[in-house]
Amino acid sequence: MIPLSEAQAYVLQGCTPLGAAPTDSSQALGLVTAEPIMCNEFVPPFNNTAVDGYAVMAADTKAAPVDLQVIGAIAAGEAPSTPLTPGTAIRIMTGAPLPDGADAIVMVEDTTTSNDTMTVTIHRCVESGSAVRRAGEDMQPGQLVFDSGTLLQPGHLGVLATLGIATIATHRRPLVGVISTGDELVDGPQQLAPGQIRDSNRRALLAMVGQTGCTPVDLGLIRDDEAAVEAALRVGAEHCDAIITSGGVSMGDFDYVKLVLSRIADMRWMQIAIKPAKPMAFGTLGDTPIFGLPGNPVSSMVSYELLARPGLRKMMGLAGDALHRPRISALAEGPLPRRPDGKTHFARINMRWVDGTARIRSAGGQGSHQLSAMAGADALAILPDGEGLAEGDTASIIVLHSD
Ligand code: AMP
Ligand code: MG
Repeated sequence: MIPLSEAQAYVLQGCTPLGAAPTDSSQALGLVTAEPIMCNEFVPPFNNTAVDGYAVMAADTKAAPVDLQVIGAIAAGEAPSTPLTPGTAIRIMTGAPLPDGADAIVMVEDTTTSNDTMTVTIHRCVESGSAVRRAGEDMQPGQLVFDSGTLLQPGHLGVLATLGIATIATHRRPLVGVISTGDELVDGPQQLAPGQIRDSNRRALLAMVGQTGCTPVDLGLIRDDEAAVEAALRVGAEHCDAIITSGGVSMGDFDYVKLVLSRIADMRWMQIAIKPAKPMAFGTLGDTPIFGLPGNPVSSMVSYELLARPGLRKMMGLAGDALHRPRISALAEGPLPRRPDGKTHFARINMRWVDGTARIRSAGGQGSHQLSAMAGADALAILPDGEGLAEGDTASIIVLHSD
């Protein structure tokens, strides 16, 4: 058996970021920048007011309460025409440009207006610059806005819109094919014949691929048949950037995935010192990475989380911490026992926050076939080789969903 860190490093070295393509920035959510995004304008583009109120000369408000003559009004979107002179004020709405001569805004709540609106009484003395948003206070020409390798979130799309950047270079979103294998598997709701079960891995893995930020491609449920397995893999390698298989990578007699991949691809068959998900294969068919995940439903999901997901994130153009789920420490609210076996265990757990501390308990049955506990789990507890956790112990956990 090899340590998980070695298997993860092996997978990552075999995954390279996909090439860059010009992307309409309105369509770039969840993609990763392949170039630094530079600012080309002042944002805001002009000095403007942060509040509805009156543009004034701050010096005029020293003697507040003081009456100023109202000489105009500026709405957002208007260009000011009249400059301010001592003893005057201009009514101004949030976002409107500051008129020449003004150096502060008095918010409307600190004023009263005469019936004819020709005079405003200023009730509060303001400093120069008060409630003024300066040109370039957010971003300036030549400034790096976000670097290459940034996963684009809604706020980034807002910034691109602010700057009027219509097209950016992003890494292509990986197309990831998913194949499940096994003669015992049935696709759909029909009555099960003796010995049959329904294919769950493909559905779950396709969904995980989508959540990772890649485009899932359903390559189907393939029989335990050498020619069928080979054909599916070759189609996948031709159309997809990566392939995920589930099943057929362990020691069974009909593990044709192993047989075929050993023949047509360059694979490393790993026994990893973890439970679940000990067997895992990784390699390439041509230049398409292949993730050979184990068949047990929980194993395939855990293997995806620990090994395939970081590799796919790297192909998306991400690096460093962004490849991995966050790890935090948590307090066991109940026991999470295990037996020593030379492996690190990943227990399916529920997590809740109490006064800023994450608390965990078992999400249910911990067998690698017990998908219901995996489905309900918020996190995986990392249980080093040994006897597991007693109530009150602290553990490191991998948070699976943050929303
Ligand atoms: P294998 O690795 O093919 O020997 O499969 C190991 C276990 O996982 C067996 O109990 C299989 O029936 C089960 N299994 C394999 N593939 C799937 C799948 N796609 N959906 C549900 N169970 C599966
Ligand atoms: Mg099988």
